Amino acid sequence: MKELEERIRQDGTVKPGNVLKVDAFLNHQCDVSLFDQMGAAWAEHFAGKRITKILTIEASGIGIACMAARHFGNVPVVFAKKAQSINLDGDQYTTTVYSFTKQKEFPVIVSKKYLEAGDRVLLIDDFLANGKALRGLIALCEAAGASVEGIGIAVEKGFQGGGDKLREEGYDVDSLAIVESMDPETGRIEFR
Ligand code: 5GP
Repeated sequence: MKELEERIRQDGTVKPGNVLKVDAFLNHQCDVSLFDQMGAAWAEHFAGKRITKILTIEASGIGIACMAARHFGNVPVVFAKKAQSINLDGDQYTTTVYSFTKQKEFPVIVSKKYLEAGDRVLLIDDFLANGKALRGLIALCEAAGASVEGIGIAVEKGFQGGGDKLREEGYDVDSLAIVESMDPETGRIEFR
């Protein structure tokens, strides 16, 4: 998606350790109009998949998932929680994910009430690097007996390989910007 690539070039900063910082419009301040365009792009790509639910992971996935839902007939958006809480009562599916940015493991939890057999799920997340976060969401869907109909990603770092592995396994991954290389010295970003 051209608008997203342009925005990354304009406002993104390349940090050491293969981290792209896009706080200006995605991970801290939110550009709702851009989110809306992203939702429209995913709706076009996943048209005909009869999505019944969007599943994402807190926190940065929530905004883009909610905007996307407006383009999928206002289907419910469920966000997996990263910490146990007293608000999470009763039965839940839980798995563990290794965080690329925080470099530690954390739990990923969803209540059985909100993810069910028969759900046709679109997974949405802000970034795709090695694919660990998505593997966690896929595991939750498998545990629930829900089918993963597609994966919508804002920014994929193609050089980290997580997206291509998922595509090889048959998942329909639609990343709106795929970074092929980025250089923390010069700040230069190349897209696929
Ligand atoms: P993965 O699990 O695919 O290795 O990494 C994806 C998750 O890590 C995303 O949910 C995102 O929160 C975070 N992440 C990975 N790489 C980056 C990055 O370069 N920039 C930002 N802002 N988040 C990232």
